[in-house]
Formats: sequence, C-alpha cells, structure tokens
Amino acid sequence: MGIGIWKYKQFLPPIETGHQVTIGEGNTPLVKSRNIGRELGLKHLYFKMESANPTGSYKDRIAAVGVSWALQQGKSACVGTTSGNAGAAVAAYAARAGLPYHLLVLEHIVEAKLAQVLTFGASVTKIKNFGSSEDVGLKVFRYIEQIAERMNWETMITAFKFNPTAMSGVKTISHELHTDFGGKFPDAVFIPVGGGGLFTGIAKGFKELSGDVERVKSPALVAVQSAGCSNIVDAWRQGKTEPVPGDSTAQISGLQVPNAPDGKDVLQVIGRGGGWGEAVPDPVTWQWQERLAEHEGILCEPAAAISLAGVEQALQAGRIDSDSVVVCIVSGAGYKDAGRIQAMVDKKPLVPTHTIESMIESMNDGDPI
Ligand SMILES: *Cc1c(COP(=O)(O)O)cnc(C)c1O
Repeated sequence: MGIGIWKYKQFLPPIETGHQVTIGEGNTPLVKSRNIGRELGLKHLYFKMESANPTGSYKDRIAAVGVSWALQQGKSACVGTTSGNAGAAVAAYAARAGLPYHLLVLEHIVEAKLAQVLTFGASVTKIKNFGSSEDVGLKVFRYIEQIAERMNWETMITAFKFNPTAMSGVKTISHELHTDFGGKFPDAVFIPVGGGGLFTGIAKGFKELSGDVERVKSPALVAVQSAGCSNIVDAWRQGKTEPVPGDSTAQISGLQVPNAPDGKDVLQVIGRGGGWGEAVPDPVTWQWQERLAEHEGILCEPAAAISLAGVEQALQAGRIDSDSVVVCIVSGAGYKDAGRIQAMVDKKPLVPTHTIESMIESMNDGDPI
C-alpha cells in the first residue's frame, strides 16, 4: 500500500512505484460539525478538509498524479497556466520530482498566490492582457499545447478537457468518503464549482464505486457557484446542456471561470437528476467563511466556504432535510487569500496594549480581561 493518494492506485493511471511522487496529499480528515449543523438543524453535517493538503488545496491530488505521469512518460518539464492554487500544487510536486515548471500567468495575478508558486522555484512569465482579453486567453492555451508537444513537456491545466490523466487524482476524494462512511454513501455532497473539474472528478469516483447505479444509491452531487459566475447553474435551471455564456462579476478567487472547461460534464450529471445547482451571492459566502472560523475553528478560503453557503440555501429550499447526511468539500485553506483574512480581522475590535502590571492590577481588582 502506497502513501498519499497512491493507496488508491488501482483507480489511478498505471504508474510505477519509483515514479509515484507524493508529499502526503489526500487522506484528508472528514470532520463532523459540532456547532453549525446544530444551529442549522442538520443532524449529520460533515466537512471534508481538503485544506489539509500539503499546499493547502485539493489541487495536490491532481498535481501528484500529473507530475508522476510526466516522470513516467519521460517528460522533461511541466508547462501550464493558473491564477492560483493549481500553480502552487504543480510547483511543489514538480520541485519534488526535479522537473522544471514553466507557468504563464495573468498580467495582474494576486501577488500572494504568485509568491507561493515562486517559493517552489517555478519559472513564471506574466502575459500582457491575459485575464482581460479573451483572444489572448485562447492564444495562451494554444501556445501551451504547442510548446508542450514540441518540447516533450507535460501540459498541466487542471481540467478534464486538458489533462484527464492528472485529473483522475480527484476521484480519490470519493473513495476516501466511501471508506470514511464505512462503505456507505452520504446523501449529498456540496462541491464548489469554477471550471467544473473538482465536481466531475468526484462524480467519476462515485460512479466507479457504485457500478450499477440502479442498485446502489450514490450521493446527490450539488454544484455550488458564485452568483456572479453561475454559467453552469443557470444552464441547469434553463434545461440546457452547455454552460450559458456570459462574463464573470464573481469576486471569489478560484470561482471566476466564465468559460468552464468541464461545465458540460457537470451539466450531464445534474441534468440527469444526479444532483442540482446552487448559486450563492459573494457576501453570503464571506459570512459563511467567517462563521466556519468562529463556530467550528475551520479557516478556509472563500471558494471553500461556498459549499456550506450552498447547504444553507438547499435546506431553506427544502432540497435537503434535518436527517440528510451532508458533506461540504472544504476545497482550500484560509491562508490562500490574505486579503480576505485582513477583511475579517478589520471587523474585530482593536487589539489593546497594556503593561503586565496594569493587567495584574485589574485582575486583583476583580476585573480580569
Ligand atoms: C480550483 C478550486 C476550485 C474550483 O475547482 P474547479 O475544478 O475549477 O471547479 C474550488 N476551490 C478551490 C480552493 C480551488 O482551488
């Protein structure tokens, strides 16, 4: 039995032990809610702590498989694009594998996310107008595919459309949940959706496990998007099979994906009754991020808190009830978004400074902290 996700290697691409790169990704805790479930009136609310992965997001499961596969295929480097967590994940695993990683990023990438990538030694190029011009975006993807082909590099873009081999790492989340629930399935899994790869990977994992879906009830999978970028949920509501085109006004990093590469796959699952969609306004998601920290001790990034925001919405609409066994995928760690941490801190009372003598005096006066 391997460590990290390699424990489930029979469900992953065939990669020799010597090429299996791991930093201990996966096997993330499934934590039962102590307070929020009770406050909402849900008896069985769980958090799948993907924020506990080595670089702080579930993208490590993808990077582990993708970088290992690159080694096995004799690739000499990895190349890709990202605005955030995928870059940090691939940079870490490429560093461990001794493979160079070339990353093309938005001209105005969030500096904190760029910093995490740079610490792992990746070579980064900012592309002018990438992020604002759709034409530049399309050219970047084409460039990456062409240079990968020419140089014998591995393309690392975290969507099934671009790298289904690497993305198969996401399926291990479903296998772990099945094990954690003692060989049973929860009733519903709430999944943050940007490009749709996380959702699609979890759906594939459960499909693998349930085999004959007629006989074994697999969980309902709920796609939770920002209302500012709800192209998939809107399409589901309108009975369409392709995401509805339109720009993003979402302010949540990781969920600003107006052209979701795996959106069609998500719609295939929820369109056939395998789940449903929830679109949540960003301020509501931020409130749930704060509540998770204050009521459960879980500090996650906004993109992760949206799954819990989706739970509340589904409960109010009667799509789940107090007896439902519900899992929220907590996809990324709080430290990923320093700006949001500061915004939360700014709402707290100012931190006072006193002498220890005055503290002792107050204590003796019966007026402690
Ligand atoms: C990438 C990411 C998502 C969105 O995943 P998609 O596969 O793009 O739908 C959600 N949360 C976090 C923390 C992420 O890093």
